Amino acid sequence: MVTLNSINKSYPVGKSNYLHVLKGIDLVIDKGELVSIMGPSGSGKSTLLNILGILDSYDDGEYILEDVVMKNLSEKQSAFYRNKFLGFVFQSFNLLPFKNAMENVALPLYYQKVGRKDRNRIALNYLDKFGLKDWATHMPNELSGGQKQRVAIARAMINKPSVILADEPTGALDSHTSEEVMQIFRDVNKEGTTVIIVTHDREVSGRTDRVISLRDGIIEHSGNAELNKEIA
Ligand code: ADP
Ligand code: MG
Repeated sequence: MVTLNSINKSYPVGKSNYLHVLKGIDLVIDKGELVSIMGPSGSGKSTLLNILGILDSYDDGEYILEDVVMKNLSEKQSAFYRNKFLGFVFQSFNLLPFKNAMENVALPLYYQKVGRKDRNRIALNYLDKFGLKDWATHMPNELSGGQKQRVAIARAMINKPSVILADEPTGALDSHTSEEVMQIFRDVNKEGTTVIIVTHDREVSGRTDRVISLRDGIIEHSGNAELNKEIA
């Protein structure tokens, strides 16, 4: 479960100014939810996702992930909790260009010092699950955008995270491929993983169970995706 209590975050601007980006965010995301975060450019979506991803700190308030308060962590502790609890998916896929699909998926296991044979076997299973077994030895530049994103989702899932965080995961994909990738997120979610997707695509948010609308650093609305469509 993800809980944010009165999270504030400012960035320093110049010597003595601050940009107040998140203004008292209160948010609870239950285990097994599939939610989207929407909002205009500059509303604080990536800042919020970076805090959820333990990639950035916050000024005050409290972030609780799986019953652990994520505050005043060292780099080492942050990395530990990121590996333990989280999987990341990005708009630009972030695959290593000189590693094949299987090696890319296996990468998180390499960092956990799992031997090559074991990690490649596990990675192959994940590729199979996402319909990409035949592409295991292909390099990223031989894959379509949708295939690359499926590889990236397999890589995010290999540590069995409790939460997947995705920042504009369909931003570089056409609408048909976006729909395929959303189906993968829905499948992953059905198996129990919490999925949080930042998007500005209403087709994408419409395929999630709850839409959280961020505006100017404040949660403006949070609720059922279909209802949100009607409001919009
Ligand atoms: P979004 O993802 O919704 O477009 P961001 O969270 O990226 O919004 O940014 C929110 C605001 O914070 C923007 O005005 C942006 O320019 C500013 N901002 C983001 N990151 C930094 C940073 N590292 N330093 C200073 N300002 C930042
Ligand atoms: Mg952003």
